[in-house]
Amino acid sequence: MSELAGHIADALAEPAWEQELAGVYRQADAAISATLAREAITCLAGGCCCRFDVQEHRLYASTLELAYLCRHRPGDIAPARRGLCPYQRFTQCTAHERRPLGCRTFFCRDGKGAVQGMYEPFHRRLLDLHEQAHVAYRYAELTQALLQFFTAP
Ligand code: SF4
Ligand code: SF4
Repeated sequence: MSELAGHIADALAEPAWEQELAGVYRQADAAISATLAREAITCLAGGCCCRFDVQEHRLYASTLELAYLCRHRPGDIAPARRGLCPYQRFTQCTAHERRPLGCRTFFCRDGKGAVQGMYEPFHRRLLDLHEQAHVAYRYAELTQALLQFFTAP
């Protein structure tokens, strides 16, 4: 098992932090929704922002975010080998409630400027949560992290 997969497994074994993490996500969602409403930005939910190959971006997440996401196993891990998110099924996210902060704050060009800046303050709170929960903070690319965790011998 890789060092990262080991930290994710340790975090899952002591899940007292999960409620706190869910609370940070709820507050981030509320702040993002308010901004989108204020700026009259509409998301068509087509799922293109999850296509890392189309968007040419990579998604990173912290240890606790990865642990929270990994609690829900993807139906098929194979897309991760091609650099694609294994939680995306057609246009839908099958881990919507558990998706990382980067998924919540990544928007296509209509919303980019408005919500991009919201990542840092909420990410800082997640960083503090690692310290409180005594979980090693790592920041890893999503598909590689999922492969390491779900294909560990
Ligand atoms: S943020 Fe943009 S690309 Fe992503 S689902 Fe909404 S409309 Fe589509
Ligand atoms: S976890 Fe969900 S929202 Fe995030 S990239 Fe994957 S399918 Fe998209």
